[in-house]
Amino acid sequence: MQNISTRLINAGRDESELPIRTINPPLHRASTVLFDSYADMLKANHGQFEGIEYGTCGMAAQKAFETAMAELEGAHGCRAFQSGIAAIAMVLMAYTEQGDHILICDNVYGPTRRFCDEFLSKYGVETEFLPSASGADIRNHIRDNTRLVFMESPGSNTFEIQDIPAITAVCREKGVVSVIDNTWATPLYLNPFELGVDVSIQSATKYITGHSDILLGTVSVNEKYWAPFNKCCRLFEAFASQEDCYQALRGLRTLKVRLRQHEQSALEIARWLSSHEMVESVIHPALENHPQHELWKRDFKGSSGLFAFTLKDEFEELDHSVFVDSLNLFGLGYSWGGYKSLLTGGRFKRTNSFGYEGKTIFRLNIGLEDSEDLKADLEQGLNRLAEYVAS
Ligand SMILES: *Cc1c(COP(=O)(O)O)cnc(C)c1O
Repeated sequence: MQNISTRLINAGRDESELPIRTINPPLHRASTVLFDSYADMLKANHGQFEGIEYGTCGMAAQKAFETAMAELEGAHGCRAFQSGIAAIAMVLMAYTEQGDHILICDNVYGPTRRFCDEFLSKYGVETEFLPSASGADIRNHIRDNTRLVFMESPGSNTFEIQDIPAITAVCREKGVVSVIDNTWATPLYLNPFELGVDVSIQSATKYITGHSDILLGTVSVNEKYWAPFNKCCRLFEAFASQEDCYQALRGLRTLKVRLRQHEQSALEIARWLSSHEMVESVIHPALENHPQHELWKRDFKGSSGLFAFTLKDEFEELDHSVFVDSLNLFGLGYSWGGYKSLLTGGRFKRTNSFGYEGKTIFRLNIGLEDSEDLKADLEQGLNRLAEYVAS
């Protein structure tokens, strides 16, 4: 019998992997992955080992989630990251180098803009912000050193739509990589690769995981642009939590039914708000009066549960507390895509003029509560604001 210190290490370890067949992938916890032979280790030493050689390569749950995403989006490959913004940062680093110029749509997620302004600039990459509703006119912004065009459609908070196929046609012609943050539509309601996009990003934090308890991002890439991206991921040894990838796979299984419910309730509430006397505009791409509604209808298969509205009277910013703080069903917090309804509000800045300068935009994440209850909650909140203003 071996000594207790050796038995402590090996007791209960089964090298033979019991063939338990579950529907879902196993969850591994690993830094070290054991090689079958010294020959395999030597291959790994030389970067020639085909299998998983270390924890940073990702385990079964991550591989399954990445494979599922690539398959659903029709991409060549997919990689998962610890957050949406980590996914975005990796894309921007993978395709740019010192002296490059990149074009970013003005309505991108705030931290995406910050990454360009405050990080890429340190490495000599120049960012130019395009009008949010850009299309074929991006041609006029392309320079000899333009490497990448980044779209987000509809964009954060102001929901402008870009003419994606017009932009990707120019990118193709000029040899520029086209990227889209497709978080709002998910792969269900927009397929970027069908529209000629090279790289599609998801903040899986939102609808894919759907329960406001996970941070996760994905990047899916076509065959042409896969190699440089994959190389950058390997250099960073980027990976995602196996537990989170497991939950994201679960999320995919129910995405369609959840999204349909978010879509229906959001449309109902958006239409109701449109007819409310205190509301100035409802910003929702599926409403006929949205400035790029026709583009949305042409390219998208549906709408999700996130949209915004503005009020007619411009109150002092803090006066809005009367409305917001009286809401019972809308949580006040960042992020979206979860089952609980949320509200955010604020005034936004853009590089180009955008029509909502100095205007407070309230953004609603419509969750899975009953839409009549949500309307009633908004109604009582707006009534309180009206009473407050009148008094
Ligand atoms: C939330 C969000 C992100 C970032 O995702 P995190 O997982 O929170 O880092 C990126 N893009 C869009 C459009 C988002 O709404």
